[in-house]
Amino acid sequence: MKEPFLGNPQNTIAVLQKYNFTFQKKFGQNFLIDTHVLDKIIDSAQITKDDLVLEIGPGIGTMTQYLAYAARQVIAVEIDKALIPILEDTLSAYDNVMVINDDVLKVDIAALADKYNNGKPIKVVANLPYYITTPIIMGLFESHIPVESITVMVQKEVADRMQVGPGTKDYGALSLAVQYYAEPYIVANVPPNCFMPRPKVGSAVIRLTRHKEPPVQVKNEKLMFQIIRASFNQRRKTLANGLNNSPEIHLPKEVITEAIESLGKGASIRGEALTLQEFAALSDMISDRL
Ligand code: SAM
Repeated sequence: MKEPFLGNPQNTIAVLQKYNFTFQKKFGQNFLIDTHVLDKIIDSAQITKDDLVLEIGPGIGTMTQYLAYAARQVIAVEIDKALIPILEDTLSAYDNVMVINDDVLKVDIAALADKYNNGKPIKVVANLPYYITTPIIMGLFESHIPVESITVMVQKEVADRMQVGPGTKDYGALSLAVQYYAEPYIVANVPPNCFMPRPKVGSAVIRLTRHKEPPVQVKNEKLMFQIIRASFNQRRKTLANGLNNSPEIHLPKEVITEAIESLGKGASIRGEALTLQEFAALSDMISDRL
């Protein structure tokens, strides 16, 4: 198997010119051109020759080459059909890569894990298209696909939101959802000059290692996330008002107030001050009263 040869500006430009490729803004195409960043992603994803890796959006195959070199098998899902002949070329030296030309949100990933990894957990590695970061990550977690870890390049601001705890401006529904399913760790901040073309925003690599068991046990997961969404939809309102105004939660005001007070936090508390454990306790109290 050949060593990776993409990941620097010269070779990337040569491939793009050979195929007369034009970047599609609507697909969030910013290709990596920095070998240090690629090494860091591969190291932090802790890939071994036992692993099946799912790559979302291989582009011209830059990171795919690194993944093929490190993993047992790579499945790469790319939406842009103009990239398929390029990938056939750049990945021709690797016999352990399967490219699927489709929208990743429409692919049955559980079926792929079942077929190609005997249902064992897979690793997901990607330089994500930023316009669908949240649906991709939450889709992987919520659909209970067997995933061991997700190591992804995302917008820096989104990585921060995934990692923070209560009482900070970035804390919100995404922080709680991610932390319910996984342990987040920011691996590196990545400036715009590591990509072609340069994105307008800073980026970061974050690794999300899936919990074996969620850090809280909750009677009704769906209700807890409804409560979380309701309390952050109206950030500047109190938790009680947020829950009262939610179209998803139908409970008398007194019941909501009583449940919040039993947390021992005072009636005027805001959602942004509550931990995941407190949201779980609140959800269980509301669930008992439903
Ligand atoms: N992995 C490459 C790299 O690091 O150089 C490219 C990363 S680029 C930020 C995102 C890639 O995702 C593009 O190749 C884009 O065409 C692809 N993409 C965008 N939306 C997608 C979707 N819904 N499903 C699969 N691939 C998608």
